[in-house]
Amino acid sequence: MPTIQQAQQILKHKFGYDNFRLEQEHVIECILQRKDCIVLMPTGGGKSLCYQVPALLFEGLTVVVSPLISLMKDQVDALRANGINAAFLNSSLTSEEQTQITRQVYEGKLKLLYVAPERLLQGGDVFLNFLKDCRVALFAIDEAHCISSWGHDFRPEYLQLARLKHLFPDVPVVALTATADKLVRKDVVDKLELKSPQVFISSFNRANITYYVEAKKNLFDKLLVYLAEHKDESGIIYCLSRAGCETLAGDLRNAGFNAIAYHAGLEKTERDRAQEKFIRDEIKIVVATIAFGMGIDKPNVRFVIHADIPKNIEGYYQETGRAGRDGLHSEAILYYSSGDVMKLKKFVFINNNAEQTQILSRKLDQMAKYATLTTCRRKYLLNYFDESAPDNCGSCDVCLSKFDLVDGTVIAQKALSAVFRLKENFGINYTIDFLRGSKAEKIREEHKLLKTYGVGADISKEDWATYFRDLIAKGFLQQTEDEFPKLRLTPKSSDVLQGKTTVQLAKSKVVEEPTRVYGEPAEVNYEKELFSRLKELRKMIADRENVPPYIILSDAGLIELSAYLPQSLSDMKKISGFGDVKVQRYGKEFLEQVLEYCKMKNLASRISLKQPKREKKAKRPIKADAGYSSTYQATLDMHRQGLSTAEIAAQRGMSPQTIANHLAQFVESGDLKASDFVSGEKINQLKNLIDKYGYMSLKTIKENAGDDISYDDIKFVVSEIKGVS
Ligand code: ADP
Ligand code: ZN
Repeated sequence: MPTIQQAQQILKHKFGYDNFRLEQEHVIECILQRKDCIVLMPTGGGKSLCYQVPALLFEGLTVVVSPLISLMKDQVDALRANGINAAFLNSSLTSEEQTQITRQVYEGKLKLLYVAPERLLQGGDVFLNFLKDCRVALFAIDEAHCISSWGHDFRPEYLQLARLKHLFPDVPVVALTATADKLVRKDVVDKLELKSPQVFISSFNRANITYYVEAKKNLFDKLLVYLAEHKDESGIIYCLSRAGCETLAGDLRNAGFNAIAYHAGLEKTERDRAQEKFIRDEIKIVVATIAFGMGIDKPNVRFVIHADIPKNIEGYYQETGRAGRDGLHSEAILYYSSGDVMKLKKFVFINNNAEQTQILSRKLDQMAKYATLTTCRRKYLLNYFDESAPDNCGSCDVCLSKFDLVDGTVIAQKALSAVFRLKENFGINYTIDFLRGSKAEKIREEHKLLKTYGVGADISKEDWATYFRDLIAKGFLQQTEDEFPKLRLTPKSSDVLQGKTTVQLAKSKVVEEPTRVYGEPAEVNYEKELFSRLKELRKMIADRENVPPYIILSDAGLIELSAYLPQSLSDMKKISGFGDVKVQRYGKEFLEQVLEYCKMKNLASRISLKQPKREKKAKRPIKADAGYSSTYQATLDMHRQGLSTAEIAAQRGMSPQTIANHLAQFVESGDLKASDFVSGEKINQLKNLIDKYGYMSLKTIKENAGDDISYDDIKFVVSEIKGVS
């Protein structure tokens, strides 16, 4: 049986990477033991390597089932660029080409064969029987969620893949998907009929994506500013309607941006051309409906903008997930207006189906809630997909804004009495203008006579807007679901108006730059000018080889070249993405550019700074600002007074989960011990599981642990291990 050390060698020499990511190592170990498994990993997590590395270690052929024709070609190009014998079979090939590839399969010349499911199952079992005569080492089923009718990409032919296990009982099967939806995940496990498969779940957190939400007012101007600041970067702007796409793309072109529209109403050839140009870095901005993105694997999409709010979190997460597959810093920006939500409400209404309408409407509400959060957006997203997350991620606009908590009792009283005086008949903007004593004509004369008129003139419009959002988020006010939503009082309002309760409100300050999370190359200083020269060189080589630029080398690789300035081909091998074959094929060309640049600028090599990378631990510093340190400290103090987690939670009005998160931080920092919370027996059991599965995915551990072990138990033990390692 091939060993994991051999897998490391393959990773380095064939793919040019130093370390496995997320669950890759465990998955590969499992496959090397010829066991079935299911891999749930977010987009960009690195699912492909999970089967590509074993494929190179096994004797025989690895068959990869993949539903997307365009992606197959991409994958095969990428493998070939690394000198690996791979091919694909699908309807885009001529019958001669297909025959030729089948011959190569028969002669055992290929390591990997990508096939569309319908091709695999063509003519009953004809093709499968043919494969029986060849030596098949492994089946990999990509996009395995297509087997689920719950998902958005259900493909009936996927259901037949269960046959693989009947026809090839001894060949291991690995199923992979990036779908975070619970129902779909369960379906994948049920439908594939795998033999007691191990399930590997990586965190779905996309640490390198920073999430922002901004008001949609003056959208176009805001876009122009943003795009001007990101001129050389690729991005996708999602709109809900085809017409919206066309208009925006046209306006952007008129403003001098390299943008193109993409939607299902265009001719296929036109769509293919747009996609191709985007992939080849010839067009930077695609303005698209959701139709765009399924079939592309472009790793260097730096931003995903939603000009309209999507209908649900699933869609939103999938679309934003197309940013930053390469692990470098990327941004997801949603432009929000409550009016958009109202418009969508009409679309989620399904005639004669109250149940379905209710589900869709609830999903839309959850999406709208995301847009108006005053708490961490990442946490909300991850919790939505059933994953726990710390309260503060440090890289969404909310966490970066450093909300100051202020005593907002008087502010809240002013706001609520304004709503009351205006007879709950006006929206946020009017109420703010009224509070600020606006002289504008739109303020009715009778309102100018009211006592509350102008009592909030000392507070800026922006601050009032934040306060109102927070009052709504905290349930002191609500909005009607009209096209122009009106503010309404709630049962909680009267205590405030009567002075029976105090209110803490969030006041936003400047949004800071995010701390970079795991896009490590961006952390080093790199030569920007060299980077753009290398980009040009890469484009030239890519055109010569007729592949997209990222097949030649990733942006991360280019950044490493411009940061570490290798001076020889053996230095080159230390750069991410340069496996042996790429060094041999393209090393010299890149090296020449780097040498020339170094000579011109009188720079020396910095390759000694390049350490083999270790996956970064998601260590979260206990923040001294934004009131976090005191809230953690309060929990610790109460714990030290002998209170249980549940008691602290009750006293502090927080969830037990939050309290456990606080305490786990102190376990990680060494102030507390896991044994303060978990029995010795469970700790031992958990340590064994962590040895086996690592600690990146609490879920994997939980799934393989007994029922009596809770997530909190796992969290404490993992925190302790992180603290010492
Ligand atoms: P997924 O299929 O999960 O969306 P991919 O397999 O396409 O992700 O991988 C995303 C990117 O990450 C690719 O460019 C790939 O080469 C890169 N990658 C994968 N694993 C590693 C690793 N261990 N080290 C560095 N880069 C990696
Ligand atoms: Zn956050």
